[in-house]
Amino acid sequence: MIPFSNSYIKLPEHFYQRTIPESVKSPKLIAINDNLATELGIDPEWLKSQDGINVLAGNIIASGSEPIAQAYAGHQFGGFSPQLGDGRATLLGEVIDSNGKQKDIQLKGSGKTPFSRAGDGKSALGPVIREYLMSEAMFALGVPTTRALAAISSGEKVIREEPLPGGIFTRVASSHLRIGTFQYFAARNDTNALTTLTNFALQRHFPDTNTSASPALTLLEQVITAQVKLVSSWMSLGFIHGVMNTDNCSISGETIDYGPCAFMDDFHPASVFSAIDRDARYAWGNQAPIAHWNLTRLAEALLTIIDPDKDTAIKLAEKALDKFSPQFIDTYNDKYSAKLSLKDQAPTEFIQQTLSLLADQQVDYTLFFRKLTQLANQHIAPTELAKLFQDPETCHQWIKQWHTHRDQNKSLTMHSANPILIPRNHQIESAIQHAYKGDFSVFHKLHQAWKTPYKEIPENPDLEKPPLPNERVTQTFCGT
Ligand code: AMP
Ligand code: MG
Repeated sequence: MIPFSNSYIKLPEHFYQRTIPESVKSPKLIAINDNLATELGIDPEWLKSQDGINVLAGNIIASGSEPIAQAYAGHQFGGFSPQLGDGRATLLGEVIDSNGKQKDIQLKGSGKTPFSRAGDGKSALGPVIREYLMSEAMFALGVPTTRALAAISSGEKVIREEPLPGGIFTRVASSHLRIGTFQYFAARNDTNALTTLTNFALQRHFPDTNTSASPALTLLEQVITAQVKLVSSWMSLGFIHGVMNTDNCSISGETIDYGPCAFMDDFHPASVFSAIDRDARYAWGNQAPIAHWNLTRLAEALLTIIDPDKDTAIKLAEKALDKFSPQFIDTYNDKYSAKLSLKDQAPTEFIQQTLSLLADQQVDYTLFFRKLTQLANQHIAPTELAKLFQDPETCHQWIKQWHTHRDQNKSLTMHSANPILIPRNHQIESAIQHAYKGDFSVFHKLHQAWKTPYKEIPENPDLEKPPLPNERVTQTFCGT
């Protein structure tokens, strides 16, 4: 009932390990993504049947599925682990979607794989709820991302700091190729595998690019561009990925791994939510330099196949990497020009100055741009915007400056740059806490609202609100 068309399994055997999902006692359906299922050529009603649920729970291997765990390595917080791999994920197989694109269907939390090391391969329900809500909200916000096909409760407990109800998440991705996948083979000096992987990645993600010069260099350039788009989108929305390790950096340029991620409420460039990011390596404002650092690791991994002569390969890779910063600054400035409706060639300084002011004044990031959009379209008075500032006078001063930079003709387009709703931490936390008590109403309500984050919906005004001081969630955690 799933039209599998698997390709990764045809790659050499050391690219993956075969694995079988563990069965669970009493799986129950929490959510199915009907539209996504249909796009993938899967009947959503079948997914909701007992057979479908058993497939999503890992209790039945669907016809055509060839479950595998993919091998990969990765730099985690700067330190290299040559052997990670899918420790709590199983790739059921791939399908070709209605746009002719190959997609991975993967279970997360379906038990041990040959790469699980000391882990149990399972997931608590909380991370399942978080990833479902976050990834679908990101999709609706227009950010490249992996998708959520299904969420299942396993009916079993998983042992974390305390026993917690377990869950299984079905993730759909353009692929699960990571920078770490390339690093895995580079660490083993496996040039043949690197060449095979590069060709596979190019064909899958960048089929229309001319690779005649050097396929590996072309791939590097394409991944740089994809990461520029991705990270500038994250930053413009106030999103902090939280765990930008190279194993969580997708070659396709999709957001992957919704562990300790968060959207900021009050703006501050040094914001960090991840409980394990003690040095603030992955703070909001560090995300561009970290993306560049990660891409440099990709370049290193590809070096031997960029050019047989090492010096030439390094020169070519450096030239490609040097394009990151100007590309990033352009894209980032474009995003903020749209958010602030600025004239073309908006001065970078004004954008910087605006962000510094928001940080000084502890202004809610999303509400600021939301209210500014309303102000630009004459739906509110300046005092309404100024109320968000600790010292409203600083806002009035800023508005004066803004008038000198703004392009009035762009006021309407601000609506599509500035979402009304974002998945706020305290809202996600509330959905998780209710889910642990068996109540999925908050999950469903939020999921529905976040499908249209740019649209004014009268029933949703409460969802725009930042957390009250006692509702603030200042730390987020990995799913492990
Ligand atoms: P992450 O930090 O979530 O990107 O995971 C890093 C590595 O740890 C990956 O190789 C995961 O497969 C592995 N891992 C995380 N949690 C578990 C778990 N509960 N059981 C087995 N492996 C895990
Ligand atoms: Mg990961």
